[in-house]
Amino acid sequence: MTQAAIEIDQLCKTYAGGKRALDGVSFDVPRGTIFGLLGPNGAGKSTLINILAGLVNKTGGRASIWGFDIDQHPRNAKASIGIVNQEIVFDPFFTPKETLEIQAGLYGIAKRDFDAIALLRAVHLEDKAEAYSRTLSGGMKRRLMVAKAMVHSPPIIVLDEPTAGVDVELRQQLWAYVKSLNARGVTVVLTTHYLEEAEELCDRIAIINHGQLIANKPTRELVGMAQEKVVEVTVDRDVVTPPENGCFQKIDVKAGRTLVITYRKDQANAGEVLGAVQGAGLGIVDVSTREADLEDVFLNLTRSTG
Ligand code: ADP
Ligand code: MG
Repeated sequence: MTQAAIEIDQLCKTYAGGKRALDGVSFDVPRGTIFGLLGPNGAGKSTLINILAGLVNKTGGRASIWGFDIDQHPRNAKASIGIVNQEIVFDPFFTPKETLEIQAGLYGIAKRDFDAIALLRAVHLEDKAEAYSRTLSGGMKRRLMVAKAMVHSPPIIVLDEPTAGVDVELRQQLWAYVKSLNARGVTVVLTTHYLEEAEELCDRIAIINHGQLIANKPTRELVGMAQEKVVEVTVDRDVVTPPENGCFQKIDVKAGRTLVITYRKDQANAGEVLGAVQGAGLGIVDVSTREADLEDVFLNLTRSTG
């Protein structure tokens, strides 16, 4: 089957107060991928995910999950997805084992078909099976939420900012679990602020800003857009009009004597860039360079649509 795991078409959401959180967003999540949904705070990520979860009503457009339209086949759509919300919500008086058993009951899974301990083991919470949820650390609660979302073995799992409040070591464990789920064929969608993580984990990344899609590309291509390099050159006199040259992508003057030059690594090298500065009759006093990374790509994209 070539159909996407999730299909989103012209999705819109205007909240009761008039806030337009999603403004015609369309993209597909291919089956079997780890798909990253990135965007600054307030971009509309949680709104989009809560629509898929059936927690927020869209005001326009269509969405389908595993081929099931969320309006026409809401039960099948819901059964095909496990969602880990951004907020941690738990009944503090149940143990992790009970929490999972109650969730299994909600999905109509027979007791004999459900192994809570195996699921807890997968998220490294086996030894907390009988503890009260309220005694768990933030990271443990987050992992329990992941287990809860996987109770009905959905083909798709969505994690909304799963690393908020999770320390580095636990984050690694969480990602290892996410990777193992994906290796078993589960499609994973995650939202995150951590670009490095998205870069490391995701096959494909979509970026939304102000409720609109601004990028949707294989991670490798998006990282390829980070081919830009920035070099700061301090010269021996004040510059009024910056020199022009074909190997500069962009040039700005900072504080009179410093040129901030952006070039593409695949089109020029630092030697050529510095040669062009000297060729314009300027003496070079100091040079510093830095790599552009996904953060720069992200900032450039969000700035140009902001
Ligand atoms: P993100 O998850 O990307 O940070 P959200 O989807 O939470 O973004 O929010 C998108 C926009 O919608 C924000 O401006 C936010 O303030 C607004 N918003 C979110 N939930 C509600 C709500 N229940 N009522 C009104 N506005 C909301
Ligand atoms: Mg959010």
